[in-house]
Amino acid sequence: MYAESVNAPEKFWAKQANEQLVWRKPFKKVLQWKPPHAKWFLGGKLNVSENCLDRHIGTARENKAALIFEGEPGDVRTITYRQLHFHVCRMSHFMENLGIKAGDRVAIYMPMIPEAVIAMLACARVGAVHTVIFGGFSAEAIKDRINDCQAKLVITADGGWRRGKVIELKANVDKAVAGAPCVHSVMVVKRCGNPVTMVEGRDVWWKEAWEGAPNYHDAKAFDSEHPLFILYTSGSTGKPKGVLHTSAGYLLGAKLSSHYVFDLKENDRYFCSADIGWITGHSYVVYGLLSNGSTVFLYEGAPNQPEPDRFWQMIDRHGLTILYTAPTAIRAFMRWGDNYVLRHRLDSLRLLGTVGEPINPEAWMWYHKMIGKKKCPIVDTWWQTETGSIMVTPIPGVTPTKPGSATLPFFGIKPMVVDSDGKEVPRNSGGKFVITQPWPSMLRTLWGDDERYKKAYFSEFPKHPHYYFTGDGARQDKDGYFWVIGRIDDVLNVSGHRIGTAEVESALVSHPAVAEAAAVGKPDDLKGQSLVVFVTLKSTATASEELKEALRAHVGKEIGSLAKPDQVRFAAGLPKTRSGKIMRRLLKELATNGSVKGDTTTLEDFSVIAALQSDE
Ligand code: ATP
Ligand code: MG
Repeated sequence: MYAESVNAPEKFWAKQANEQLVWRKPFKKVLQWKPPHAKWFLGGKLNVSENCLDRHIGTARENKAALIFEGEPGDVRTITYRQLHFHVCRMSHFMENLGIKAGDRVAIYMPMIPEAVIAMLACARVGAVHTVIFGGFSAEAIKDRINDCQAKLVITADGGWRRGKVIELKANVDKAVAGAPCVHSVMVVKRCGNPVTMVEGRDVWWKEAWEGAPNYHDAKAFDSEHPLFILYTSGSTGKPKGVLHTSAGYLLGAKLSSHYVFDLKENDRYFCSADIGWITGHSYVVYGLLSNGSTVFLYEGAPNQPEPDRFWQMIDRHGLTILYTAPTAIRAFMRWGDNYVLRHRLDSLRLLGTVGEPINPEAWMWYHKMIGKKKCPIVDTWWQTETGSIMVTPIPGVTPTKPGSATLPFFGIKPMVVDSDGKEVPRNSGGKFVITQPWPSMLRTLWGDDERYKKAYFSEFPKHPHYYFTGDGARQDKDGYFWVIGRIDDVLNVSGHRIGTAEVESALVSHPAVAEAAAVGKPDDLKGQSLVVFVTLKSTATASEELKEALRAHVGKEIGSLAKPDQVRFAAGLPKTRSGKIMRRLLKELATNGSVKGDTTTLEDFSVIAALQSDE
């Protein structure tokens, strides 16, 4: 099937689009590719929300759970497909009555509650373009994003539960909207019951909006290329970019990959721990799973509330069968200790997945043994906000896995590792990771900044203007497996040797004293770059000069003496984005200048940087 998909891609995608999606009007042309711009399924019309809901109504799935929700305080709600359809219909009416038209932008700033999914699907139903802003962002970050896309409506909640406390979402929206005159209306879900100020004529309670609306909504059909959503990337590398995805191609990528990568079965109960504020939440909580008619488990809160075994408890309680999470979470579970896992059966699980960063083999093995009990396949999925859906991944039961490698490309995807001229490098050498053919769920542009789109993704190789540059560095091994070794800006060049951050970090984490590590380069007159590593220790280990020496020796032994860190620094915590990724850019600045001046709006916790600066 893979060979078919890359040898005759248009034929493959046409067949998939016809089989997987419900069309109101068939498409006439599969692809128009004028690099760097692609249009897919031209002439076709569909409604994305109809593809996630109406298609299941009147079938055996109608009364199946679409969402099983567990709030942090322990409240549980189950919503069937029929009920979800009904909620979305009502909200669609309400939004239309507010004057929201196709193409208008709507910001969603909500906790992980069913209403967040309802809001997204209602936008899709009326053709409004949603931009989901992760509930952990500050008022300032909301304001920037709302202004960038000129949103008219903001959908939020009074608050959300996080570690037993209420995050005051509505108060943040009020501050943001004060600096965003484009916003006319704010809709508020009552979640925590914390006091909020409702602005007369602007703000409306969700429940009141919902009560007055009719139950059925006749969805209009939109062009295949109608914009579906804008999503601002997490910002590991700088100012957030407004990635634009459109309707048919995106949905096809999300649906097809969900089906094959998670090997979905009718009785699955699927849990993805990503927030809907990230692309993983868009594609693999909402669109990919609901279009397949799956049961999705939603959890509102923190993984260690009330205790670090919350996930394992919920897996047993609800009989969840698939878990999709991130390496940063897996490393936290490891740090919290095996006892929290061993209290639970976890025998409903049959498949595990990971996404977001390279997973170090140590964490992969722990996930395999501790959580998967050596019987669940692991899918390590490489993809990006920009790619819309999974690009490199094993197919469970088909692709033999190697811990740390996302293995082989998904259907229709042709990646390559190239040098600076765009020429393919020999196997086992590191290089720049590109995708050489367009695919349906690729981003179409950056909202309001097509120049930045061209520059960021299609100008790296002037001789190959159709190569999509991922920004990542990778290596392909003798079996053709892909190993992402880190972001190209982070790849180290020590005395002429290219060393991936992921490789050094994996070596460090395989030492029994280390919980987490980040490797960065610091300019060095002699070597070009010298290697500085920041290390957090397990609670059982103590920092000492001897340990630093031991860690240097350990990396030397694992990779070779050229990768021996020049400097080892112990840290209480590493700076991370709000999606949990290490911000090496800040550590690099810190190692080089002793302080940080770069953009820190997406940093989760500034005190981590402050602590590192004061250690200098
Ligand atoms: P920004 O682009 O704003 O700096 P970001 O790249 O962190 O933010 P995402 O689109 O969420 O935002 O993340 C995609 C990146 O995450 C990939 O380019 C890659 O570096 C990393 N990544 C994701 N999944 C994997 C994986 N399975 N293995 C290795 N790296 C991965
Ligand atoms: Mg990125």
